Amino acid sequence: MQSSTIKASSINVLKNETKKSIILFERGMKMNNIFEDTKYLIKKYNVKANKSLGQNFLINQDVVNKIIESSNINKDDLVIEIGPGLGTLTKYLLEKAGKVLCIELDAKMITILKDRFSLYNNFEVIHEDVLECNLNKIIEKEKEKNNLHNAKIVANLPYYITTPIIMKLIEDELNLESITVMVQKEVADRLIAVPGEKETGAITYTVYYYAQSEGILDVPKESFIPEPEVISKVIKLNIRKQPIVKIENKDNMFKIIKYAFMQRRKTLLNSLTNSKIFSNKEEGLRILKELNLDENIRAEKLRLEDYVNLTKKIKCK
Ligand code: SAM
Repeated sequence: MQSSTIKASSINVLKNETKKSIILFERGMKMNNIFEDTKYLIKKYNVKANKSLGQNFLINQDVVNKIIESSNINKDDLVIEIGPGLGTLTKYLLEKAGKVLCIELDAKMITILKDRFSLYNNFEVIHEDVLECNLNKIIEKEKEKNNLHNAKIVANLPYYITTPIIMKLIEDELNLESITVMVQKEVADRLIAVPGEKETGAITYTVYYYAQSEGILDVPKESFIPEPEVISKVIKLNIRKQPIVKIENKDNMFKIIKYAFMQRRKTLLNSLTNSKIFSNKEEGLRILKELNLDENIRAEKLRLEDYVNLTKKIKCK
């Protein structure tokens, strides 16, 4: 799907604004935009961005506005924000949502967030590793306690664990309506590809099975401090009410997809034979023929329906 890019002119404006903001900040003048807020908080709390926690703080107002607009939040929503950091997105989420529940690993950020949002009665922060959280339990409890109908995830994710977080969010089959996140562009393009497209990877099939996805915005490096090494992208995954295909044993299907992609340069036939998914090459050739698939086809060329049909033909060990 299409996504737009922040215009070069806005980056120049941002750079000029940045210089102006530093001068204003140094003179101790009132903070009035995201960059100024961020610089102010960094100085006030003596924050040193922790690289190993993927801390790149967002300073581009246009990007924040687009994330908030595309996540389409209202007072009926529970928003879970993963990795709120200094609270840049949180501030805007709190104005829109019924409740914002943040999950943050860095104790320093917890102190800042609690200080910053102490006057909001719809704010809560949990000091935990998101990968260790029982999100299902949290979501159901919070929805019931606050009488909220929908749960949505909004986040600028820590890039070192993007894939495990996305897998956890979708594979745990949480009762979510949507996931609006900023991730590395390269990963984003793989997540939102339609199976068979150039960027297809094993994870593409998982996301496609559970969600209808859209690219929202490409985000340049200059939109963060410190700047990350790669370009980013905001994407939105709208969780499907019903999976897009019917499959009796989806675990087997995803296992086959995983093995099909393990040796990307090989043909599907060789990958699945080497990994013993096909008992031998003859069985593989026979099955591919029955499914009208070319014997030289590669894993990323199959549609999700092809993997459904393949799974039906294979007895997984
Ligand atoms: N939301 C902020 C923003 O947009 O400026 C910060 C985003 S920064 C890319 C990622 C955040 O995730 C950091 O605040 C970091 O401390 C936090 N984080 C890293 N690993 C985490 C984990 N396993 N669980 C929860 N939060 C984590």
